[in-house]
Amino acid sequence: MKNGKTIAIVGAGPAGLTAAINLAKAGFKTSVYEQNHDVGLRFNGDFQGLENWSDEQDTLQILDKIGININFLCHPYFAKDGLFYGPKLQKTQLKTSRPLFYLIERGSSTNSLDQGLRRQAEDLGVNILWSKKLESIDASKAIVGTGPKAADAIAKGMVFNTSLDNRFIGFLDNRIAPKGYSYLLVHNGKATFATCMFEDFKNEKLYYERALRVLNTVINIEINEPKEFGGFVNFFNEPVISKESGILYVGENAGFQDALWGFGIKYAMLSGYYAAKSIIENRDYLTLCKQFIFSQLQTSLANRWLFAHLYNIGYSFILYKLRNMDDIIPALRKHYNTSLGKKLFYILAKRWYKTRLIDKQCMHVNCDCVWCRHGKLAHIKEDNF
Ligand SMILES: Cc1cc2nc3c(=O)[nH]c(=O)nc-3n(C[C@H](O)[C@H](O)[C@H](O)COP(=O)(O)OP(=O)(O)OC[C@H]3O[C@@H](n4cnc5c(N)ncnc54)[C@H](O)[C@@H]3O)c2cc1C
Repeated sequence: MKNGKTIAIVGAGPAGLTAAINLAKAGFKTSVYEQNHDVGLRFNGDFQGLENWSDEQDTLQILDKIGININFLCHPYFAKDGLFYGPKLQKTQLKTSRPLFYLIERGSSTNSLDQGLRRQAEDLGVNILWSKKLESIDASKAIVGTGPKAADAIAKGMVFNTSLDNRFIGFLDNRIAPKGYSYLLVHNGKATFATCMFEDFKNEKLYYERALRVLNTVINIEINEPKEFGGFVNFFNEPVISKESGILYVGENAGFQDALWGFGIKYAMLSGYYAAKSIIENRDYLTLCKQFIFSQLQTSLANRWLFAHLYNIGYSFILYKLRNMDDIIPALRKHYNTSLGKKLFYILAKRWYKTRLIDKQCMHVNCDCVWCRHGKLAHIKEDNF
């Protein structure tokens, strides 16, 4: 064991477990504190996607690079495996040369991403302490990955069984998903349908009911044993990752989230990986994040601003443009590249952005993140590395 000291990690989500896996591989003794009695209890067995459009490298290569094995459901969906509908219900078939995303399951069932990461961590000797909700931690080296604490976007949906073949459907229409999107994901007899909204949360039920009606208009779908769920995601205008202390913040807790559409798993895992790397190689976490993650996150906030100002007419136009391309991946990736234009939009987006819902729980030290600014004192005791 390196260093003798145990590194404490708070939160057994993708960010915390990716950090634990990498530290354990490098010979560090690691304890993960998880408030629940199992992983993935924030989720509901719903399908999600590991997006595969924002990087040059395929997401599976990225997972491999950050030390993660695929021991969970991770099924490629190409654009041809699904359909998109715009506000006028114009049916749009797009094309990709590689999977558009990898379908994964979240929750506590055996094939979920969460259980897969748990198995990898435990096989490496990571000690997970269950049902330990930490509000403070007394450690010289700690990583905090406790997930979102405020809502910038919410999702309302259901999981159900169906006889429909594997497929996905995406909808863009502010009348069913304000400034967001609705989606159907079907895999081997199970399905997830949800609508994600970035504003007007109080009318979530209305949007959800409308979205369901639209779904039933475009497809004859059999819905068996439906179970409703809800959730939220949180992004910051700038991630808050570490304030001259021994504590490193990872995942959505620190704002590592795709502000455009809420595809935060990749950023959560990358931040866990770089937090571990900074400890293993005694490098500065902030520098690593600046080098490898921040520019994409900033561009995603600029993209959010742009998307929020498109309105239904803009969604129709985008789908129209995309449908004529032989491969939409380069076009999508281009939008995640930093450019002068995106930097300017980022400045605008930072001024415009406001977190919608504040939760008082925070583990940040001397921080000015959204909820700290609202008067919460940090609990984690500092102790420099
Ligand atoms: C409905 C929904 C759909 C989504 N779909 C997608 C998608 O398709 N693609 C995508 O990339 N992203 C998606 N996301 C976002 C994605 O799920 C998150 O970005 C990702 O899970 C963040 O990982 P994390 O490790 O930072 O946090 P989490 O996954 O939230 O894990 C945090 C962990 O910390 C634990 N914890 C919290 N507080 C404490 C405490 N005080 N003490 C101990 N333990 C604590 C929690 O119990 C939890 O296990 C979706 C989110 C929602 C809600």
